[in-house]
Amino acid sequence: MQHAEVLIIGGGPAGSSCAWALRRAGINVAVLDQARFPRDKVCAGWITPAVLESLRIDVDDYARELGIQAIRGFRVGLMNAAGNIGKAVDIRYHATVSYGIRRSEFDDYLLRRSGARLYSGEPARSLRREGREWRINDIYAAPMLVGAGGHACPVARLLGAHPGREPAVVAKEIEFLLPEAARATCKIYGQRPELYFCRDLAGYGWCIRKGDYLNIGLGRDDRWELTKHVEGFLAYLRRERGVPQPPGHLNGHAYLLHGRGHRNLLDEGVLLIGDAAGLASPQSGEGIRAGIESGLLAAQTIIEARGEYSRQRLQPYLDRLQDRLGRGNSLNDALPIWARIVFARALFRLPRLVRQMVLDKGFLHSGQPALTAMQAG
Ligand SMILES: Cc1cc2nc3c(=O)[nH]c(=O)nc-3n(C[C@H](O)[C@H](O)[C@H](O)COP(=O)(O)OP(=O)(O)OC[C@H]3O[C@@H](n4cnc5c(N)ncnc54)[C@H](O)[C@@H]3O)c2cc1C
Repeated sequence: MQHAEVLIIGGGPAGSSCAWALRRAGINVAVLDQARFPRDKVCAGWITPAVLESLRIDVDDYARELGIQAIRGFRVGLMNAAGNIGKAVDIRYHATVSYGIRRSEFDDYLLRRSGARLYSGEPARSLRREGREWRINDIYAAPMLVGAGGHACPVARLLGAHPGREPAVVAKEIEFLLPEAARATCKIYGQRPELYFCRDLAGYGWCIRKGDYLNIGLGRDDRWELTKHVEGFLAYLRRERGVPQPPGHLNGHAYLLHGRGHRNLLDEGVLLIGDAAGLASPQSGEGIRAGIESGLLAAQTIIEARGEYSRQRLQPYLDRLQDRLGRGNSLNDALPIWARIVFARALFRLPRLVRQMVLDKGFLHSGQPALTAMQAG
């Protein structure tokens, strides 16, 4: 039997951040992941600077080893299902407001940096409690278990989640190397990704350039409208933005936005973080930040519990999460479709408001300081 004080299932940004903070406190932590790293993850790979700050990652250090694209503006517009976009507007910033990273590199970097013991290429198949310990696959044992296995995390299922039956958003994405012939003619620029919002505000499409890589995708609340919107969007990118046909199909993935699902996030000796807990931003779908922050907050709670992992000792995790992420309300939950269409049309006539309401508030969380590792333990 392999023993650890804390066993984390899933080595994505949530799991590796939790492991990093626990290791810094000298706790014996192990991460079990079904994939071998570096592994890919369906994602646009867009992060806000607060993400790096909260993990004390120096951008220059990261850039010495791996690809990172500074973002200083956005081209935004409204789009119908056929991919017709009215007038798009350019919104520029004086400083870097976001970064584009490649998930295969970023996740591998975070996991290596965490210093945790890693068991990779091994799915958690069986989870059971024996006395005060968890037994995983009858090989690994720990008194504290952290579920960080993404939307379909086995630990979330153990706590009662039914991933197929929840109101998840579905998004499709592809990242590919631009063919050499298209590099000069493609009108998507690294410093200024493009975001096109569905006119019912039920989702948006993106196109982000990271060096010679292009990441294209679209996510929506309703899966039955998704394919139509994706096709319309790709046609627009080909027609107007010099984007070549992607070399394969877009990969789909579902996940929960914060406030939409009702997962049980903790029990005796166990808690959930990241997508396993359903914490992505209801405004933008950004889930890396919530994953990392929930990982840090969970670590803080575990450290303070000092080996006594009762429900009561883990309860502060839920309070901290709510303080940080709020309840997770979004405009889409408050307004019927017709009202959203009218609202969106009026909003996109006023670029200043798009910048303030959509980008600054919904996407960039301007005004909200980073969660520092110090704050989170
Ligand atoms: C198309 C799309 C685009 C997105 N774009 C962005 C974006 O640009 N910016 C952003 O912030 N967020 C984005 N998100 C959301 C973001 O990808 C997730 O919120 C984020 O990856 C959550 O991190 P996590 O660590 O919780 O889970 P994950 O990154 O999903 O990691 C979970 C890990 O658990 C492992 N695992 C799963 N099951 C098991 C098992 N049984 N046993 C062992 N290991 C297991 C997996 O192999 C994986 O490594 C996007 C999502 C989608 C679908």
